[in-house]
Amino acid sequence: MTNAPSHVRGATDAPLSTETIGAMLRRVVERFGAREALVVRAQGYRATYRELWDATTALAKALMARGIDAGERVGIWSPNRHEWVVTQHATARIGAILVNVNPAYKSRELEYALNQSGIRLLLLARGFRTTDYRALLDEVRGRCPHLEQVVVIDDDWDALLAEAAAVDDAALAEREAGLDCHDPINIQYTSGTTGAPKGATLSHHNILNNGHLCGEILAYTEADRVCIPVPFYHCFGMVMGNLACASHGACAVVPGEAFDARLTLETVGAERCTSLYGVPTMFIAQLNHPDFERTDVSSLRTGIMAGAPCPAEVMKQVHDRMNIREITICYGMTETSPVSTQTRRGDSFERRVSTVGRVHPHVEIQVVDPETGRVVERGTSGELCTRGYSVMLGYWNNQEATAAAVDAERWMHTRDLAVMDHDGYLRIVGRLTDMIIRGGENIYPREIEEFLYTHPEIEDAHVIGVPSQLYGEEVMAWVKLKAGADVDDVALTAFCRGRIATTKIPRFWKRVDSFPMTVTGKVQKFRMRELAAAELGLDAGAENTGR
Ligand code: AMP
Repeated sequence: MTNAPSHVRGATDAPLSTETIGAMLRRVVERFGAREALVVRAQGYRATYRELWDATTALAKALMARGIDAGERVGIWSPNRHEWVVTQHATARIGAILVNVNPAYKSRELEYALNQSGIRLLLLARGFRTTDYRALLDEVRGRCPHLEQVVVIDDDWDALLAEAAAVDDAALAEREAGLDCHDPINIQYTSGTTGAPKGATLSHHNILNNGHLCGEILAYTEADRVCIPVPFYHCFGMVMGNLACASHGACAVVPGEAFDARLTLETVGAERCTSLYGVPTMFIAQLNHPDFERTDVSSLRTGIMAGAPCPAEVMKQVHDRMNIREITICYGMTETSPVSTQTRRGDSFERRVSTVGRVHPHVEIQVVDPETGRVVERGTSGELCTRGYSVMLGYWNNQEATAAAVDAERWMHTRDLAVMDHDGYLRIVGRLTDMIIRGGENIYPREIEEFLYTHPEIEDAHVIGVPSQLYGEEVMAWVKLKAGADVDDVALTAFCRGRIATTKIPRFWKRVDSFPMTVTGKVQKFRMRELAAAELGLDAGAENTGR
């Protein structure tokens, strides 16, 4: 039997939408106007599709009254609030490019985003957690020549909407009619797990189709209520969340400004959510929360876990204790709108823990040898590449970085290492840059993390490589123990001994209460490495800083 190449194309039976986001929303509002569209529990906000549409119309006109043209950049710097969703739709309706500013940014990063994308009008919250956004903005504003207008959501929102009166329906309709689905509509700076932020630029076509197709795979209808505790500034919230809901007439249910396990559980129960999103650590936090046992999760049916590999133990509990029988795993990246592969509702437990699913409709994926660029055979690992409608237009004002990421044949090179099986299911086995090399032996942190999750006292674990004179790198594990647990290094090492290869047993252990995270909930391994190297008195200068 000859081995097939690691290349597949997704189904194309249902055509892609060529609508703009505004046209899609208008159609859904006509059909489902009286149904609930958006609930933000922490704000006590509820809106039907009709009400959401009206708010969107008001903001779209107000932005036009402020002189915002199609193609101009409008930034939003806010945690999850209803105004974020209204802004997302309003900017799309007038063809302005929404720039998602990471809520965790501090002044340096803010200044970079404002200037790099040339934001003309910035909507911002007063602050988030202990950060005073207005004070940070004051620090940098003098160095941001493009920034003309600033709107503080908490203070100026109603006044801004009132400015809509200056623009009539015909002017807005004319603007909307002039837009094309391939226009850029959104800039997202890719998360801080790699070097300098790059602004992935996405079109209506990119994100509307990706959100819609995620929802199709989850069999969304207008009866679904999707709990979205993941941030809007990332595709997980604004595309897989907001656009998957909007394109199906489903309701987006947002617990609060940022992930909080208790509030998420409360929201799922009180709002009778049918679907729940999160990165694995969010599901872990809910499963281990004291409120879990008294939360009614019986309404949950489906959901998405993405962003990082899901340990088998966690998947088992999400299925058995959270009642999410149809949970799916998505794999993707901001540059591909984001989803490229997804498990399907009927997929086996095994597939949901060991793979990231199979190719999405209308997308093409292949696994190539990173050295030669040739497609490898099924079962062989290599770099995963994605091509199709979902690939970004490019990095904003950064042709060099675009050319390095998207090749001449429009393949997006993900830097993720994957293996495709005979049925086209993909396993992510590491990153080109996230692999520990110990004495010449390749060690995948993922494998050790999976093993550590089987320890009854460990709640969460992340593994990194730290510099070593002898081996180049040594394995270090950071573990978060369950409440009340007390396990020392000797016991942890003993647990591994004889169960995993000696070379994989962590040489160093660190017990923590939390991990350095991006706002999307992705553990920042490069931060862990820096902290560990400093703590252990090791030289971090070696080439192992990776992600
Ligand atoms: P971002 O652009 O922030 O969405 O990050 C994209 C990266 O997250 C990918 O390149 C992967 O390394 C990682 N990633 C996303 N989804 C998964 C998943 N389901 N399993 C493992 N890694 C993932």
